[in-house]
Amino acid sequence: MAGQERDPMRDLEVFIRDLAERNEVDPQKALHVFKILSDPGNVEGYSDDDIEALTGYKQAEVRRILRILYDARMIQYRKGVHPSYGVARYFWRVDSNSINYLLLKRKKEVLDKLRQRLEFESSNEIYRCPRDGSRYVFNEAYINEFRCTRCGALLELEDNSGVVRALREAVERLEREIEEDERRVYSS
Ligand SMILES: [Zn+2]
Repeated sequence: MAGQERDPMRDLEVFIRDLAERNEVDPQKALHVFKILSDPGNVEGYSDDDIEALTGYKQAEVRRILRILYDARMIQYRKGVHPSYGVARYFWRVDSNSINYLLLKRKKEVLDKLRQRLEFESSNEIYRCPRDGSRYVFNEAYINEFRCTRCGALLELEDNSGVVRALREAVERLEREIEEDERRVYSS
């Protein structure tokens, strides 16, 4: 199965894109701001003004992105004082603990889906159309007299042991990963 390598940044990207889209924010811009804030050199945090200067985005856009990232608990702030005006200023950076937690939650959702698919594939007899690859569980195939409802070809019993094996391996791999992550997240 593809895409099983560990790549936390990739998971995060998907998460941020979803989040941005749901909040009607440009996903590319949200990602850009997030990347700036997750820079390991960013210890003190960046102010709204810093981010505006670094990205060239409008103040309202920057604030909106910070807001949604903050509401999703991906970033945190430190309150400081503006050097020349003496007013409150916020310095933002990524909340890495909270992010580990988010990633873990997402992995568990993926694991649930994989388990459901594994359950489905291993408990059903699957019939397959040799022409267009449509798949049917036994009941569907039986009702249609083992003919494909799309093209009418005679269905063949599929050997899905390869699929089952790949799913089982993916489930086990992800279970191990989650175990490791949990040890890391909860011990920090
Ligand atoms: Zn067919």
